Amino acid sequence: MPRLIADRPVLRTTSELGRVMGAARARELAGEHIVHLERGEPDFDTPPHIVEALAKAARDGATHYPEAHGERSLREVLVEKLARENGIRAHVDDLVVTAGGTHALFLAIQCLLSPGDELLLLSPHWMALPKLVGFASGARHRALPVYLELLSGAWTPAQFGERLRMALRPETKGIYLNTPNNPTGAVVSRAHLEALAAVAIERDLWVLSDEAYEHLTYDGEQHVSLASLPGMAERTVSIYTMSKSYAMTGWRVGYAVSPEAMRPVMAPLLAFYTTHGVFPAAQLAARAAVAGPQDCVAHMRAAYDERRRLLLAGLAGGTVHAPEPKGAFYAFANVAAARGSREPWALVEEWLGFGVAVLPGTAFGPDHADWVRLSLATRAEDVAEGARRITQHAGAVPVQGTGRGRA
Ligand code: PMP
Repeated sequence: MPRLIADRPVLRTTSELGRVMGAARARELAGEHIVHLERGEPDFDTPPHIVEALAKAARDGATHYPEAHGERSLREVLVEKLARENGIRAHVDDLVVTAGGTHALFLAIQCLLSPGDELLLLSPHWMALPKLVGFASGARHRALPVYLELLSGAWTPAQFGERLRMALRPETKGIYLNTPNNPTGAVVSRAHLEALAAVAIERDLWVLSDEAYEHLTYDGEQHVSLASLPGMAERTVSIYTMSKSYAMTGWRVGYAVSPEAMRPVMAPLLAFYTTHGVFPAAQLAARAAVAGPQDCVAHMRAAYDERRRLLLAGLAGGTVHAPEPKGAFYAFANVAAARGSREPWALVEEWLGFGVAVLPGTAFGPDHADWVRLSLATRAEDVAEGARRITQHAGAVPVQGTGRGRA
């Protein structure tokens, strides 16, 4: 028998989300009712005017190979949007339209990381990142926990800058930033971004700025795009997606904005290995989303905000504590008391037993065994019911040998 599977570690990594969803599905098939707080999949339908734009574009013949960078009329609208909303002055040739933000991240990582280079992942970080780095041959990644401290206000910008400086190694070539953050809901303030920018400039680093949740902030928090800060556009690749803002996860449309110096690689690479990227009619529908009315975005933001309140109210008084998220649609909850000294997966299974599916914090970096992610991208009733079950059933288990925990 030939060896069929290549000897590359990235092919052996497993998905914690897949594991949770599989275990939840098995219980559902056995007749149990599971509240799904594990997935980051908006439960809203894509707004009808966007669906209509797809149908019209397909009827009008937008069914051939797309342009290598993405449809020009979409990129032109995006250039205006970036100037208006993000404070980024981009050239239409520095945008590539990709199959979602994931693909944009993949492309950027392929273009940025040489063998031996390290990407510092500010953490907890979205779970795809280690795998995406794993596809860049010889590249490495390391997590640096920051978002819980930023969310709680524990660090001044100067302390944040110092923490970053201390974490850098000679092989660190770039930083992965994600604000608003999945999974904590931290929104990194302008002053903290300025501190990060100062470190990046001082140490000549580039930054991958994942802004997938740019439109989802609460309590008057403002999303700031790193590339809008002085000196950062030339060292930042900014990543955006239609998935969250417009409930378009299945459409697979996102984009990257990169420094002019990357023009020779970004679009040619996209063109080469996907034969030019995304279905043109889907791109024209994305154009309708960006150029059209934005009340659908406001409506979904208000719904997530309400669910956020329901979740926090439902958890109040229990053993599980979630710092209030300020953006995105998740809460990262501390389960130290409920978990005790057990493996994170033991807690996930226990919670599935009382009908709540969550993602263990270890999916978001090695330092978060005491945490789980709760998603707000599901019906308000389910969020409330999930919180109720957690508060009722997730007790504090005694920790062996320390006497900590509930009797
Ligand atoms: N970045 C972050 C932080 C995310 O949470 C996600 C999706 N969960 C993405 C990027 C990519 O989403 P998509 O590929 O659907 O655009």
